[in-house]
Amino acid sequence: MEFSELGLSELVLRAVGDAGYTKPTPIQEQAIPVVLMGRDVMGVAQTGTGKTASFTLPMIEILASGRAKARMPRSVILEPTRELAAQVASNFETYGKHHALNKALLIGGESMGDQIRVLDRGADVLIATPGRLLDLFERGHLLLSDVKILVIDEADRMLDMGFIPDVERIVSLMPRMRQTLFFSATMGPEIRRLADAFLINPREITVSSSATPAETVEQFLVKVPAPKDNRPGSVQKEKRAVLRTLIRDEEVRTALIFCNRKRDVGVLHRSLTRHGFGAVQLHGDLAQSERTETLAAFREGGVQLLVCSDVAARGLDITNVSHVFNFDVPAHAEDYVHRIGRTGRAGRQGRAFTLVSEEDRRYLASIIRLIGREIPRYGEGASVAAVASVETVEAPQIQAQDEPKRPRGRGRRDRRDRGAERRSPAERQPTVEVQPDLAAPEVAVEAEAAPQRPRRREEPHEKAVVGLGDHVPAFLLREPFPDKRR
Ligand code: AMP
Repeated sequence: MEFSELGLSELVLRAVGDAGYTKPTPIQEQAIPVVLMGRDVMGVAQTGTGKTASFTLPMIEILASGRAKARMPRSVILEPTRELAAQVASNFETYGKHHALNKALLIGGESMGDQIRVLDRGADVLIATPGRLLDLFERGHLLLSDVKILVIDEADRMLDMGFIPDVERIVSLMPRMRQTLFFSATMGPEIRRLADAFLINPREITVSSSATPAETVEQFLVKVPAPKDNRPGSVQKEKRAVLRTLIRDEEVRTALIFCNRKRDVGVLHRSLTRHGFGAVQLHGDLAQSERTETLAAFREGGVQLLVCSDVAARGLDITNVSHVFNFDVPAHAEDYVHRIGRTGRAGRQGRAFTLVSEEDRRYLASIIRLIGREIPRYGEGASVAAVASVETVEAPQIQAQDEPKRPRGRGRRDRRDRGAERRSPAERQPTVEVQPDLAAPEVAVEAEAAPQRPRRREEPHEKAVVGLGDHVPAFLLREPFPDKRR
């Protein structure tokens, strides 16, 4: 099917052509005509399927006629994270370049004054995280009574992050007669309940299972040897040594390194930097300006490594990420699929490595069950244990601070094996190997027996901070004496 068969106008088709798209993706083929008809949509689709254009293109078409009134947006797109909201706003700009539509990006951590000025001018589309939208509503800067189209994107992520009460409140402030487009990567009972509450006779569109990792991503498990002592942090230290070896052994152009805990993001980032790697960090506790700068630097290719929490797992569309490293096995199987989906994008090849320590093993079986196949163990030759212990012996002063003995980067690998640079990934002989018992049946049995834990926003060792981080509940932000302020 061609874009021209979907009912889009000449101007939108021109913007699509300018973006370099030749054929619509399956979700675009199915959703665009339905949205143009004015019907509600329930899309089960993950990021990377072209889902953003599947709702923005027809929205631009619909919004092209009519004008926005001050403080009364005509459409709203709700996103779970600031990064995703900013990305959707930039997509809107790309696809709407031949239209004069006003958009407002309402996200926490950015100047409220600027956002209020945009609202005052009248926004055709408002792209927001739930907390900031409610906050501005409660301060009287916008009304939702003129909203004709509502998009709830990444609904399952909203649920994980504790945003659903805010989403429900936002929906209750909108007219009942509106068009609603609801997207989620998974469709559990709670998501189904929300869809039933928000949508009227929707067209259900499912494009691919969330459990299907991109075919373009090669996946590997890497066993982390048990530390020689039981001191706190010993396992993490072993993991850092294994990770450094992998980064040097692989032809890493740019990589995302995922940790389960925000504090580990900081520790790993500092350690990699001390070891001479070009690394930045991203997690929900950083100031928005820092998050924006970090992502910009990484997108532009100025830094090789982005150490991050799952805030970066969903939806971030950065081409050219050659590798994903799971420093920790994610506690929730779907997060594995989202994390590794940051590489191997747009038809490129990617490689994903998951470090497995003794304590990580319990999460492996549910990942293997979800993706429906075993993940191969990495490499032949010397074992990771050997490599990691050599590093520890070579640099005893690292024991306390994990400090490098010599400047690193690509130098050591270059000296040792320059020829490997020119070999294809299949020909390369990795210098690390996992122990053969990694995916042994008893591991699977042990993990199978483990009760399925409810999804939480953060790793279980860290207290879940529902409603904070990306989002501050509106009542905390409200002025105590609003009358006196004015
Ligand atoms: P999304 O699933 O919306 O995050 O989109 C993933 C990536 O696919 C983005 O980089 C889009 O620019 C790109 N994309 C969306 N639609 C198409 C298309 N029809 N052809 C090629 N690339 C597309």
